[in-house]
Amino acid sequence: MEFDDYVDAGKIASYARKEGKKMIQEGEKLLSVAEYLEDLIRSKGANIAFPVNLSINNEAAHFTPPPNYEATFKEGDLVKLDLGAEINGCIADTAETVEVSTNKWEKLIKASQEALENAIKKVKVGVYTSEIGREIEITIKKYGFNPVYNLTGHTLESYVLHAGLSFPNYNDGSRVRLYPGMAFAIEPFATTGPGRVKGLEFGNIMLLVKKEGKEYLTKVHQFSRGLPFSTRDLSKNFTNWQDILKDAEHNKYFYFYPVLKEGRNEMVAQTEHTIYLREDGPYVTTL
Ligand code: MN
Ligand code: MN
Repeated sequence: MEFDDYVDAGKIASYARKEGKKMIQEGEKLLSVAEYLEDLIRSKGANIAFPVNLSINNEAAHFTPPPNYEATFKEGDLVKLDLGAEINGCIADTAETVEVSTNKWEKLIKASQEALENAIKKVKVGVYTSEIGREIEITIKKYGFNPVYNLTGHTLESYVLHAGLSFPNYNDGSRVRLYPGMAFAIEPFATTGPGRVKGLEFGNIMLLVKKEGKEYLTKVHQFSRGLPFSTRDLSKNFTNWQDILKDAEHNKYFYFYPVLKEGRNEMVAQTEHTIYLREDGPYVTTL
């Protein structure tokens, strides 16, 4: 049953997030954490819904380590760990922010956490998505920070991570009502900056957008199943992955997700849960 798959995917994603939080320590390699967590999700019987994201400081989202990446976590790093599990197309998407060896950004982290808690309290059949956004904005501003205005939560559909509807992090005035059976992720981003992110450089996360044209595309479709994948996935599936990457870029077979950074390079914290809305109220799958 669909609901059960959402629940099971949520449990696995939540477990991986908690394990990942413990691993984010000074001197630990980003690559080891990402690979360990992706293997962990698979070992529990789910697929990864997207590559493990480890975005640091002013990076809000969409950084995943490339193959052979040597960088380690450093003192003072503000790390957004964002990961996902998928079972039969049902996706769990969850994130939290960890500070490495310092407590400088405790309030910023708390602002995004509390914004998510308050947002979830508002979730009910018939409520507008803008009312949820309003709650997020109010909570984050109470802490003296700004929400990131151009990043949103999103509905989840079968094998679709970012489906049709958005969950704004402020009151955008939309009149979209929540309905029973809806699965979605709410993800408040709090920042010390004005609250707009820019995507200027391509990262290591991509999506297959054309399934035909080259033989390798069939294999890419098989391992990615319509979901985002990374250059690490490519490198594990093809020895000539760098040629494939260039070819796919040239022919626009892949969509490349840019690393999203706060426009003035200010700090960003994020917290995210997946929710399945039933008639009687929200079920948070990734607690
Ligand atoms: Mn996420
Ligand atoms: Mn999300």
